[in-house]
Amino acid sequence: MMNALNFTWLPGYNFGMKRWIYTLAIVCLVMVWGVTAVSATTSLQTENLTSRADVTYGKEILFELTGPFTETVAQVDLFFTIGSAPSPYTVKANFAQDEAGVVTASYLLKRESAELPPFAEVRYWWVIRTADSQTYQLPEAITTYRDDRFEWRSLTDHDVTIYWTGSDAGLGQTALEIVQESRETLDAILPPGNVSPLNVYIYPSTGDLRAGLRLAGRDVVDGHTDPALGVLLVTAVNPITAATELHQSIPHALTHLRLYQLGPTVELPYWYAEGIALLASAPDEAMADLVATAVADQETLPLLQLCTNFPDEPDQAELALAQSVSLLRTIQTQFGDQALRQLGSLYLAGASCEAGLTQTLDMSLVDINVAWLDAQAPQPAWLTFLTENGLWLLLVAGSFGLLVLILRR
Ligand SMILES: [Zn+2]
Repeated sequence: MMNALNFTWLPGYNFGMKRWIYTLAIVCLVMVWGVTAVSATTSLQTENLTSRADVTYGKEILFELTGPFTETVAQVDLFFTIGSAPSPYTVKANFAQDEAGVVTASYLLKRESAELPPFAEVRYWWVIRTADSQTYQLPEAITTYRDDRFEWRSLTDHDVTIYWTGSDAGLGQTALEIVQESRETLDAILPPGNVSPLNVYIYPSTGDLRAGLRLAGRDVVDGHTDPALGVLLVTAVNPITAATELHQSIPHALTHLRLYQLGPTVELPYWYAEGIALLASAPDEAMADLVATAVADQETLPLLQLCTNFPDEPDQAELALAQSVSLLRTIQTQFGDQALRQLGSLYLAGASCEAGLTQTLDMSLVDINVAWLDAQAPQPAWLTFLTENGLWLLLVAGSFGLLVLILRR
């Protein structure tokens, strides 16, 4: 049967193929003409319509469409997506059309009904259906459900936008530079996955930041904002110390955001998530001192405890955090950034706290603990002197030897 079919088809190939191509070409032409005609009428019909969205933060977004329309309107639908949600919502808008044909349509989106997350981008577009069943879709527009209690200044460079308040005109540029440095640091120590685009909001105080989240039905939890919001929310309280504050907070929050986007459903070991966020931030002398004292007093926490039983009690928790950063820094010094990236990849792939470490370093947890403690032990004074002055000592010794050889001749 196959042979017979092939046989009857082949002789007619040239003619059949040509006719098929002509038909296809005509179909394409008709389609292109059709699409052009439709979009032409669409743009003619809708180009005088004005679409807008009014955000009242903490309460609602009012979407409005107004303008002249020559046909009789039967229905107006609003389509919108919130944040990165995969599928749009559709709602019927209230609408009216006067005798002159002017349409006004609106839809009030309440915060509670849509669970609008703070700072979410809302993409929206209107679809108008006419009495004779024609549909016209307007171009997509975007609005941001942002905290409107402040006059935000803004500065954009490529995919990064900084929003801040107050009179310090240079703060935006400072923050942009810190974002750039943080991205470079994170590219070295985390698996690939840049957060882009990136919006950073700098609040004038922690209280304002917290109030902003609470107005939108959220809060700061354990000193952190929810990375699922997809934006960086930080504070710069004092203009004089703003840069120092941002050197701590931006890399820290960006680490959490990047890790979240790499594995939204993965629960990372606490010591790793916090440790790597602190490692990415400006070094904290107080934390280094905490570790040095605990090592000297032989009061460090066993590594296994960071994995299985991270302390709750504030002093112990502080030491555990300091040890977490110190462990990651030791891994970085002895095995390189590549080891940190591998550790991150293993954890993001769901490896257990212990397995991530033992597989990355090819050592047992006990041996890792010993190696880390060894690395913390203070160097004897003569060794420090030698490492710092070794080259000079070598040069002096060399010249002295040379001198002896010359004198003996
Ligand atoms: Zn953190």
